[in-house]
Amino acid sequence: MDSEANLAYLESLPELRPGETFVFDCNPGVPCFNRCCAELTLPLSPYDVLRLRRQLQMPSEEFVATFVRLHYHEDTGFPMPMLRMLQGPGEPCPFVSQAGCTVYEDRPGACRYYPLGRGASMGRDGVVERFYLVREDHCRGFDVGTARTPAEWYADQDLAGYNRSNDRYMRLMSLVRATGRPLELKLVNMAMLCLFQLDRFRELIGNMKLFDRVEAEDRRELVMGDSLAADEAALDFGMDWLELVVFGTCPTLERKPSPRQESPS
Ligand code: SF4
Ligand code: SF4
Repeated sequence: MDSEANLAYLESLPELRPGETFVFDCNPGVPCFNRCCAELTLPLSPYDVLRLRRQLQMPSEEFVATFVRLHYHEDTGFPMPMLRMLQGPGEPCPFVSQAGCTVYEDRPGACRYYPLGRGASMGRDGVVERFYLVREDHCRGFDVGTARTPAEWYADQDLAGYNRSNDRYMRLMSLVRATGRPLELKLVNMAMLCLFQLDRFRELIGNMKLFDRVEAEDRRELVMGDSLAADEAALDFGMDWLELVVFGTCPTLERKPSPRQESPS
């Protein structure tokens, strides 16, 4: 489902105002435990891939080959990795076990949002958020539970990092969408590296000496590090670099002037 179809689907559901509460809990005690972790159409955002790869300590090429079915957004050409369900009876998620989710700390944003749907769109002053309640028939989590507002659910599910990164990604995609044509192939390949293959993007940074070309010396050490914060910084830098390459300008990353521009003629 592309982002517009996803928004149209959400808008067909009951909307929850920011201060409104909903009652829900999901834990190993519910009779439907694990039942929803199968036969999913689950697109992975760049931040989802970042968190899963860090949890699994897996090179990006192996991660993509093992867990991803690669699709592309029709309108922008951006890569859209989908989490590949296991083949066989019930098509379970590759990360589900009898005890629950084996990647729980780093599970994708979609698994955290549920049963909330987050409709985010670009408004004049930034991202506009709306909330919807996704109530599936098989889900018993609504029968008994804690009343929470959407903001309380976000805090409970530790969604701040996901929202921040996904909103930046949405801004980049909406800029490309506004051009009315998808990225050309070499930029699609660049997008794959910058967004979903941070290990290979770091190699590219080294090989192309990218930090010699941009005004970002203060970001170098963290971007090239090895920690969750470093991966987050590398993804931010990747999105900035991609925007700079595609549009020739980016509000959060500037090219250094070329030596010819620096010296008086
Ligand atoms: S990642 Fe975890 S929570 Fe999400 S569908 Fe798979 S097992 Fe379930
Ligand atoms: S169906 Fe609902 S309550 Fe049951 S495990 Fe999934 S999210 Fe939790």
